[in-house]
Amino acid sequence: MRPAASNLGDEVVLEAQALQQLLEVLSGRGYQVVGPTLRQGSLVYDRLSSLDDLPRGWGDQQEGGFFRLRPLNEPALFGYGVGQKSWKEFLYPPRRRLWPARQEAHGLQILPPGEDAVKFAFIGVHPCDLHAIAVQDKVFLEGPYLDLHYQARRQSAFILAVNCGHACGTGFCVSMGTGPRASSGFDLALTEILAEARHYLVVTVGSEKGRQVISQLPHRRAQAQELEAAAKVVAQAAGQMGRSLDTTEIKALLYRNYDNPRWDQVAARCLTCGNCTLVCPTCFCHTVEDTSGLTGEQAERWRRWDVCYTVDFSYLHGGSIRATPRSRYRQWLTHKLATWIDQFGVSGCVGCGRCITWCPVAIDITAEVRAIREGERSGARGQGPGARGQGAGISKGTDKSN
Ligand code: SF4
Ligand code: SF4
Repeated sequence: MRPAASNLGDEVVLEAQALQQLLEVLSGRGYQVVGPTLRQGSLVYDRLSSLDDLPRGWGDQQEGGFFRLRPLNEPALFGYGVGQKSWKEFLYPPRRRLWPARQEAHGLQILPPGEDAVKFAFIGVHPCDLHAIAVQDKVFLEGPYLDLHYQARRQSAFILAVNCGHACGTGFCVSMGTGPRASSGFDLALTEILAEARHYLVVTVGSEKGRQVISQLPHRRAQAQELEAAAKVVAQAAGQMGRSLDTTEIKALLYRNYDNPRWDQVAARCLTCGNCTLVCPTCFCHTVEDTSGLTGEQAERWRRWDVCYTVDFSYLHGGSIRATPRSRYRQWLTHKLATWIDQFGVSGCVGCGRCITWCPVAIDITAEVRAIREGERSGARGQGPGARGQGAGISKGTDKSN
């Protein structure tokens, strides 16, 4: 296959085995290549050293509170949905040392964090996760406070997206407008096609970085029937979507239903374990912890992920303002789908379905919103004033109706 000139927006074809070369090109350009791989019966994102590390021939089965790998009857490299981990683990790590400090004669000396600059290449980012990265960009890069660590990792990252060929069991990206086809936010986006004894990738060039990488690989312009095959793959995934979330006037709906009895019903099931926040690719709340050595000569400040389901999270001068599971679940869901829009201008939910799959009691955000909508229609709104849900996330909005 002879190389063809490629421009942004071009769609080209790579044979599947050229992915090995792609990984090598990215490594050669100084990227730490990270992608999906199998570990202990699960799908995780980790370092890839070769094409053999991808979960070839494996897919997944997901339902509320249920995830299993399943063998496919074809050697697909990207035949899986999203796993429990997301790319935020790399851009916004679960634990990060903000600074070390040393006691000097003149007082405490705060030192730089001493981190290595890491340039990640993310392989196999699903469209919903591209949207999740864009949501975290708004949080860390576009607000009043810039997160320099996130910025450094984000700006240097290379993103190879993968359009979905089958729907995740719990995802609802179509109704959130976030999938199953990648529309922006990638350097390259591929659709994997196995048909008529061929295994190839239709690749969209999304950035100058992507163009440079593809120019080092054997490729050619996609032909009409190949583009048609790629469109069919994505349409099939859209058609399989088993869940949806009606976002019509969602903010007003949730603000009106602050006292809907449905919150009590979901609270009776919710374990307040926080799994849903940890797996969510957009959740960003964290806490800060200081530690010191026994001699008192060194200290460190660490940032670690926190979850809004703990009593401590909303502890303010003498008590927790969200003392009950009801108020904490309501806070999480209302933040995702309503107050997040006030804070950042976008929904905090991209419809990836992780919170449904990894909830130990299978609480389903789509079912909860539906129940609130239907409950309101049947007059179960409760007595709450319209907009008491304002304020969320790190800002820890007040909630007196525990
Ligand atoms: S909704 Fe599910 S995952 Fe989230 S805190 Fe409750 S029990 Fe845990
Ligand atoms: S709230 Fe649930 S479905 Fe929405 S982005 Fe977070 S984990 Fe995915």
